[in-house]
Amino acid sequence: MIHKFFRRIFARNLPAVSTAPVVRMIPRKEHGISRQQISPGALKVTAALHQAGFSAFVVGGAIRDLLLGLEPKDFDVATNATPEEVRTLFRRSRIIGRRFRLVHVNYGNEMVEVSTFRANCSIDNNTGIPAQSYADQHGRLLHDNIFGSQEEDVMRRDFTINALFYNPATEEILDYLGGYEDIKAKRLRIIGEPVQRYREDPVRMLRAVRLAAKLDIQIDDSAAAPIGNLAPLLQNVPAARLFDEMLKLLMSGHSLACVVDLRMRGLHHGLLPMLDVILEQPLGERFITLALKNTDERVQQDKPVSPGFLFAALLWHEVLTAWNKRQAAGEKPLPALHSAMVETLALQRQQLAIPRRLDSIIYDIWTLQPRFLARAGRKPFRLLEHPRFRAAYDFFWLRCESGEINMEAGQWWKVFQHADGAAREAMLLKETVSKRRKRPRRRKPAESADRKSSDASCLMISAEK
Ligand code: ATP
Ligand code: MG
Repeated sequence: MIHKFFRRIFARNLPAVSTAPVVRMIPRKEHGISRQQISPGALKVTAALHQAGFSAFVVGGAIRDLLLGLEPKDFDVATNATPEEVRTLFRRSRIIGRRFRLVHVNYGNEMVEVSTFRANCSIDNNTGIPAQSYADQHGRLLHDNIFGSQEEDVMRRDFTINALFYNPATEEILDYLGGYEDIKAKRLRIIGEPVQRYREDPVRMLRAVRLAAKLDIQIDDSAAAPIGNLAPLLQNVPAARLFDEMLKLLMSGHSLACVVDLRMRGLHHGLLPMLDVILEQPLGERFITLALKNTDERVQQDKPVSPGFLFAALLWHEVLTAWNKRQAAGEKPLPALHSAMVETLALQRQQLAIPRRLDSIIYDIWTLQPRFLARAGRKPFRLLEHPRFRAAYDFFWLRCESGEINMEAGQWWKVFQHADGAAREAMLLKETVSKRRKRPRRRKPAESADRKSSDASCLMISAEK
């Protein structure tokens, strides 16, 4: 619906897509990247393709990152060979993807992604539906892949800094669109007409935010200006693709800067619809800020980060709100917590397809929270033995740090988990024992249910502080 609406609005009066670009060859002595900085797999793949008579370049993020002095995550190769031609050259390779067919070539532990030059599948201005590609020099059409020339491949990429081609054989960079100057000027410039390019693929707006934060560069005015108006287009992107992009953004090592920027540009509505509400509450804002800062530090120190923990954190204050509402309506604390969790995740999934495999960690982290408030009897010992204790404790600590829970409880667990047997016994709180004495005649199941609810209400009270 919205997609069609924007198509109608923007399909008129579009400026023509830039004409075929002119290449500038940048020698090694100017750009400084030697072939030793290219991964062994990418060197091997480009060399084998050259030997077989094809052209092949290292492209995209790797060259951009090397020019910025960063360590590339992976090395992608672009070639004029078709996926089948690439496949026959490398024994340990396979063709992947239905819409865009790529070849994954394995070399030792490395995996090199090889893509065939493609042309842009531009939108026909009259009909609003994808039109046939431009004329291509080398390209062949296979399924719905539109192969193209190297020049066309340059034009279909997203930003100029991502459209640099490095030839390991000559150590030259081919720059068709001034991407090299843009890197030096720390400027993120979109290729082609911004509105049309975002309309073709709204995820490019998220990529702009992520790359700007990760690379510490400015989004060029013409690329930044349309984002506010086009943000609703994200609603048409499949929820699974949005999840992948959101995860990349959250795991970029700059998640806090990205989320702040997403919010500033109004892009978060289609991703985390409640973020506005959460960030307007001081407790919610502090909690999410701490969680993201913590994640960024872990990524920057090469420590593992759990996506389940991250989404549990991003959604926690929504769970708290729903939980409080249900209790205010008379539901018992623990069933209310359970329903609040299920409701929050289901609502979120309408926008962002958080995979089901993350449910177990997200639910465990949330359901273990009330148990950190029971610090008497055998309960703390049982909590220590839970396989997800560590993640739940880290989460509880964030809640204490953000001011939602008294820090004294966090400190208690910090000491308790590492103390020896006698010290642990000495640390147990006494008051619950006296409570137990007051109700000696209660039957066991009723007593335990009641104790559980009193733990949970405790959490409620502190959460409302
Ligand atoms: P990083 O790997 O750091 O996330 P990257 O730029 O390498 O950044 P990839 O997703 O690996 O990102 O994409 C490789 C290249 O493919 C990009 O550099 C860009 O040229 C092109 N590309 C990726 N996504 C898009 C898109 N949505 N539209 C146009 N081109 C894209
Ligand atoms: Mg990449």
